[in-house]
Amino acid sequence: MTLPTTARYCVFGNPINHSKSPGIHALFARQTGEDLQYEAVLAPIDGFAASVQAFIAGGGRGANVTVPFKEEAFRLCDGHSPRAHLAGAVNTLSFDDGKILGDNTDGAGLVRDLCVNLQTPLAGRSILLLGAGGAARGSLGPLLEQQPAALFIANRTAAKAATLAQQFAALGPVQGGGFDALVGKHFDIVINATSASLAGDVPPLPEGIFSADTLAYDMMYGKGDTPFLAEARRRGVRRLADGLGMLVEQAAEAFFVWWQVRPQTAPILDALRNT
Ligand code: NDP
Repeated sequence: MTLPTTARYCVFGNPINHSKSPGIHALFARQTGEDLQYEAVLAPIDGFAASVQAFIAGGGRGANVTVPFKEEAFRLCDGHSPRAHLAGAVNTLSFDDGKILGDNTDGAGLVRDLCVNLQTPLAGRSILLLGAGGAARGSLGPLLEQQPAALFIANRTAAKAATLAQQFAALGPVQGGGFDALVGKHFDIVINATSASLAGDVPPLPEGIFSADTLAYDMMYGKGDTPFLAEARRRGVRRLADGLGMLVEQAAEAFFVWWQVRPQTAPILDALRNT
């Protein structure tokens, strides 16, 4: 008789010691009764592929990927889900019969946090997406799938936003440019997908982009308001949310990819908010 072995998963990143993913997946496993071990792995900046191969050799069944390896993970995969293909980045790996399969659950996690947890339908609304890096790119397909009235991508490097808008133009009404192109515009939902908050910065946003009913959403999260949310609050915005819900929802979507079981996220989000 073969004894059941615990399935091994991990998250690769650099740095990684801040990661909440091991705790989230441990809570998912307890809730759903799945037998899994999930750890955080610090991959050397020039050693991501070797770290993945070592994990597979050690019996790993799947992994999440975070900063700065999502694009390298895309290149490492033998096959991609349609949404990973669209994003050009991978945050979820499945190791199957010698093959590495890549998926991207970030955008689905964001949309689920907005639409379900925050009760903010996106159809017919105007959306401002700040940033044109990996997180913005991964979110565009799922956001446009919700059929917003308009989506504007604004980025410090304006050309990157314009290129991204061109690449996604077939999927919906999307435009891109620099922050100066926002003068005179206002939005129902403003999503900060820049990493400016990490350095304590806020993108230079013209007055008037928020109304009192705008939802200001920062993909970054932490104790208290992020710099972006503090600025939105200062400008009179009352609906504010950070990216902890997105983090939990993208993890739940990855869990579903691996186990075909969808954990309930609300109690886990509550538990994380209270720790
Ligand atoms: P990238 O490094 O790929 O992109 C960074 C983006 O931020 C670029 O558009 C860059 O502009 C912009 N930027 C950086 N510094 C500034 C600044 N000082 N002012 C204005 N713009 C700036 O990062 P990611 O896209 O991977 O991540 C973005 C954020 O989203 C991070 O804070 C990350 O933690 C968060 N995130 C959260 C997730 C969640 O589950 N909650 C999931 C994924 C990401 P430029 O092009 O001009 O350099």
